[in-house]
Amino acid sequence: MTETSIKYALVTGGSRGIGRAVCIRLARMGYHVLINCVSRYAEARQTLEQVQAAGGSGEVLPFDVSHREQTAKVLEAWKDTHPEGYIEVLVNNAGIRRDNLLALMPAEDWDSVLDITLRGFYNVTQPLLQPMLTHRYGRIVNMASVSGLRGMPGQTNYSAAKGGIIAATKALAQEVARRGVTVNAVAPGFIRTDMVEGLDEDALRKTIPAARFGEPEEVAALVGFLASEEAGYITGDVISINGGLY
Ligand code: NAP
Repeated sequence: MTETSIKYALVTGGSRGIGRAVCIRLARMGYHVLINCVSRYAEARQTLEQVQAAGGSGEVLPFDVSHREQTAKVLEAWKDTHPEGYIEVLVNNAGIRRDNLLALMPAEDWDSVLDITLRGFYNVTQPLLQPMLTHRYGRIVNMASVSGLRGMPGQTNYSAAKGGIIAATKALAQEVARRGVTVNAVAPGFIRTDMVEGLDEDALRKTIPAARFGEPEEVAALVGFLASEEAGYITGDVISINGGLY
């Protein structure tokens, strides 16, 4: 296969949870998947093994999305080694939560949550955008949250970050729509991953109309659709996937 015929997708935070399920989904759609992680390299390798078991291909690309120079260096090095290829699907999925009442929140927990989501969005998206515009095709899917739509007490930092990414999605979508690049956000409710570990699932289930947490594969199916060619007329939108919990 020539390099120009290989289709590349990058999933930030692809080592676990929703990101891992998205990697497998995109691999099944024929993408060579760049699986990003920040520290859990072994888990990212497991994602790669699952991608390969699904008949796909990929590689692990570790970098901290919140670190501008590091991200730029890794993406430039990838571009240098793939002069004919370009990343046509970008899923900005990396995220953390550091919950606390704002009155008690240490500054580093404000900064880290916003840095990974918002600086991370800029650091990864900005350098990948020009090749998408040049090729007149691209799909960007940003992982938001129900918290970014309605605001959640105990998550002022996370709600601000996810609200910001929703606004950025809507703005960027308008900048690039004429060039065949779509930008959408996905807003999950409670999805069964490491991120919700320690939450009182029995109590929370009662607040969800569907009476259960969602599965990473359910989110991945939505991301896969938004990343497909068929979704070309959907842009600037934020799609909830939350079992009815608005
Ligand atoms: P998770 O299981 O905790 O996985 C988080 C992923 O993000 C990991 O792959 C992690 O890499 C990566 N990551 C964290 N900081 C990073 C950084 N600085 N640079 C690069 N990668 C980084 O979380 P998840 O539940 O799958 O969440 C995925 C996304 O969905 C997040 O944006 C989250 O906010 C959003 N979301 C989740 C839920 C939910 O209920 N689970 C609900 C709404 C929205 P390492 O493995 O290397 O640490």
